Amino acid sequence: MKSMYEIEKLQLSDPVKNGKVEDIVKRLAFTDAIVERIKQVFISEMELALNMEPSSLQMENTYIPELPDGTENGTFLAMDLGGTNLRVLMMTMKRGEVSNEIVQHYPLPEELRIGCGDKLFDHLAKCIDDFAKEKQLKDDCKYSLGFTFSFPMRQSGLDSGVLVTWTKSFNCPSVVGQDAVLLLRKSLAKYKRTNIEVVAILNDTTGTLMHGALLDKNTRIGIVLGTGSNGCYMERANRVKHWEKQRHGEKHVVVDVEWGAFGDNGVLDFMSTEFDRTVDEGSLLKNSFTFEKYIGGKYLGELCRCILQKLHENDLFLEALSKEQYPKPWTFDSDNVSVIEYGTLNDSWDSLEEIIRTKFATARYSNDDLKIVRYVCGLISKRAAQLVAINTSVLLNRMGEEEGDNITVAIDGSVYKHHPRLRKWIIDYTALWTNDKKCKFMLAEDGSGKGAAIVAAIADKLRLRECS
Ligand code: BGC
Repeated sequence: MKSMYEIEKLQLSDPVKNGKVEDIVKRLAFTDAIVERIKQVFISEMELALNMEPSSLQMENTYIPELPDGTENGTFLAMDLGGTNLRVLMMTMKRGEVSNEIVQHYPLPEELRIGCGDKLFDHLAKCIDDFAKEKQLKDDCKYSLGFTFSFPMRQSGLDSGVLVTWTKSFNCPSVVGQDAVLLLRKSLAKYKRTNIEVVAILNDTTGTLMHGALLDKNTRIGIVLGTGSNGCYMERANRVKHWEKQRHGEKHVVVDVEWGAFGDNGVLDFMSTEFDRTVDEGSLLKNSFTFEKYIGGKYLGELCRCILQKLHENDLFLEALSKEQYPKPWTFDSDNVSVIEYGTLNDSWDSLEEIIRTKFATARYSNDDLKIVRYVCGLISKRAAQLVAINTSVLLNRMGEEEGDNITVAIDGSVYKHHPRLRKWIIDYTALWTNDKKCKFMLAEDGSGKGAAIVAAIADKLRLRECS
């Protein structure tokens, strides 16, 4: 492994303490053998899922057989429900180019995210209705709407998605097992919105891929690394067993990998640490979304807090702080990890000291305490980047057989955008594990919204073709 990939060594003033800290956290650093094992497990879980055999990957056919090709025309709507965002968007396309775009953000309070499903969907419909009134959508025009619903679903067509499980910070139990398109249509009917038709449901990674494909025609993979994480890619249609609708000679189809759940069946237990198990124990949805809990923005901060807590319990970190004073679970946001990593990159300790003073509420810290926090943030960040790069390189190697080199990976999400060195690690490790196959990572911002409007345009084209 080249040295540019290494994180800074821990160099505490006391070598004995140094050894003890390293010993406690050592399983967070991957050996080459572990990386290889994760790759092999991911490959085999993918094969199982595509063949509809038990697998922790909830891979799903999206029923989107093509990317935008420059023939998209018209005005389309999108509703984007995912991690932290709820937004409605209207996009006009002329010959595949976006000529106008209006986005409106709406609040999504916790009582709607965790509670009664009907209320959640009525709220979504109300936002669409408010948007339609405010933007004066014409009553005598039909608008096709793409619905980005960023959770694992079973799809039986482009406009049907049955929720398998909630993830991230959502939990409205009555929706599990229900078709989210039907629920949205039902709620829209309450507002008599007959001029808006939900024509497609998709995931944010698919939206990112679609938006990416509009920016760069070589885009074949979409990745989201935000509150949660996931990827999708263009698969050969003949490799996809789950296909409920009549086929129309499709050559390819977008497959949603749903890699957040990777490892839920125990296949990644060999790499999980006691800290990962503590994070899982305290999470909203226990024993699920194992992989996402290693890398998602919802979890990285808590992971950092748990590791430091173990060091604190062993009198190796912030010794002056009592057990009662130690920060409580879920009080340390992932943004702190990004801020600390900025300091590491720029060799500045100021923001880290500020974080210790505010988040750990103490002024009694040593230089060694600061070095430990930095070290831990480096370890978990590098591990997250490697995990994303492992999956990405497996997808690229798989697609390389057919697509050759020069594949563009469209990527979006708060962790990818705000973490200062994750991006470079993901790019470098992906290159390393694809034998320097030429691939490009491209930020496709707001793909979850724009992509939904593009998919609505594609859905309209497919319907027209089916009718003719
Ligand atoms: C969801 C995925 C989504 C990802 C990123 C995960 O929790 O299951 O469907 O793509 O988060 O938002």
